Amino acid sequence: MSTHTPRDFSSNRRRFLKLGSAALLMPWASGQEVTAKALVDLPDSVGYRQACTLFNSRLKPKPAAVKKCLTEDDVRAGIQWAREQKKTISMKSGGHCFEGYCMADDSLSLDLSNMNAMSLEPKTQIFTVAPGAKLRQINDFLLAKGRVLPAGSCAGVGIGGLTLGGGYGLLARQYGLTCDQLVSIRLIDAEGKVHQCEGDHELLKACRGGGNGNFGVVTQFVFRTQKAPTHLYHRRFKTNDLTPAKVKILLETWFAATTQLPRDAFSAFVLNGKSLTILLTHTDLKSQARITAMMKPLEKLVTTTTRYYAPLYPAAIKTYYGRSGPLPFKNACAGMLEGFAQLKELIETLAQQVASTSGVIWQVNTLGGAIQNKEFAAASVFAHRDCSYMSEIQGYWDDPKREPRVVQAVDDIQKMLAKHGIKRHYCNYPDRNFADPQSAYFGNLDFLQKIKRRYDPTDLFHHPQGVRV
Ligand SMILES: Cc1cc2nc3c(=O)[nH]c(=O)nc-3n(C[C@H](O)[C@H](O)[C@H](O)COP(=O)(O)OP(=O)(O)OC[C@H]3O[C@@H](n4cnc5c(N)ncnc54)[C@H](O)[C@@H]3O)c2cc1C
Repeated sequence: MSTHTPRDFSSNRRRFLKLGSAALLMPWASGQEVTAKALVDLPDSVGYRQACTLFNSRLKPKPAAVKKCLTEDDVRAGIQWAREQKKTISMKSGGHCFEGYCMADDSLSLDLSNMNAMSLEPKTQIFTVAPGAKLRQINDFLLAKGRVLPAGSCAGVGIGGLTLGGGYGLLARQYGLTCDQLVSIRLIDAEGKVHQCEGDHELLKACRGGGNGNFGVVTQFVFRTQKAPTHLYHRRFKTNDLTPAKVKILLETWFAATTQLPRDAFSAFVLNGKSLTILLTHTDLKSQARITAMMKPLEKLVTTTTRYYAPLYPAAIKTYYGRSGPLPFKNACAGMLEGFAQLKELIETLAQQVASTSGVIWQVNTLGGAIQNKEFAAASVFAHRDCSYMSEIQGYWDDPKREPRVVQAVDDIQKMLAKHGIKRHYCNYPDRNFADPQSAYFGNLDFLQKIKRRYDPTDLFHHPQGVRV
């Protein structure tokens, strides 16, 4: 059965309109009768099957039903349906969650992926966007106006999930995380009340890094934007046929070099089999001399160093858009890191494990810079600002027969890291095997639990690894 169009709710919507800055009661909460039917797509319908296609095709989500949402009325009707049917709610914006928590089993999944309106206020350059907008759409829209929102790199990632968990990318060291750019949000809670939050509102703070599927449905984000860079300056360093001992030397040298990285720069250490690629980008030409000096010790250790190349920024970021999905993979955070010391004892074993299963990639990315600004830290719950690095593990395969082997290799590496005390993780890179996800993802648990009790006391928005009441 297919869902309604927004027109189905036009008369109802008139009654629900005028959602101002204060929390508003939902019709059922205020005793009024809701006449609109909350139409949902049930298993075996075409709409259900279409909605359940996630970016990661390894996942086979089994929500109880799906509600396609185009308006806030649709969201509220979905909330009402779930309460009546005694179902929990999950929500999908871009559908890129590594573990498919946007379509949790037996939940009603609110599909927000077509709520993607956006606008830029010309005087203030303030950007307003609905949760289902994808990074590609946002880049196209903003770059045409000479503006940019610091965000992730992959084209299909939704602004909803990315922002609520943090959001980092090539510009994060310069401007902070995506959630740090937030000016206000609009959220519908478990009773269907709308909250427009700005300034030092506690709900806004909780949604800067702790908002994925925990407190309610965010239907609108308002962001500061930045002047778009003109160019993205690049260098790459490569080397093949690595031994574990050589990986260790290279990693230590990379960590030492990147402690001096200018704020406009980003670097990644990418180990794929026995091959290493080190990526370096920056946006300010003035950083070039400093970066060249800083990378000298690495240059001596690698086999190939590319010359500087500097494509125009709008073209350059497209080269980071990644493969279009769906495709099968197993990716996860492999630790928020302070420095090399945490890896010193285990890097050789890790390098051996990566080399022994083709399709497994281990990567470390630079964080730090503006992510560590005190004002951003005070206004958010993002837990890992002290970590200047984040490591991730990725497993890919083309032949389905290889899936168990690659997934097992990823799991083994995660177990080894946990055994060595690497237990802090980025909630936007979840792994269902993390032993204590609340502690791994969130720093300010008491605060988050208080917010959860305030906006969702019955855990209607149940996230499998989320904040517990
Ligand atoms: C290929 C790929 C590349 C990536 N690159 C980056 C990157 O460069 N930087 C980075 O920081 N991350 C990156 N990520 C991780 C990404 O940030 C997370 O997967 C993010 O949660 C995806 O958001 P989404 O809206 O697409 O996902 P969804 O799967 O739709 O949602 C993810 C989570 O957020 C919740 N959620 C979604 N929308 C809402 C809403 N409106 N209100 C409340 N809760 C909501 C969902 O319930 C779910 O738990 C990448 C992921 C992939 C698969």
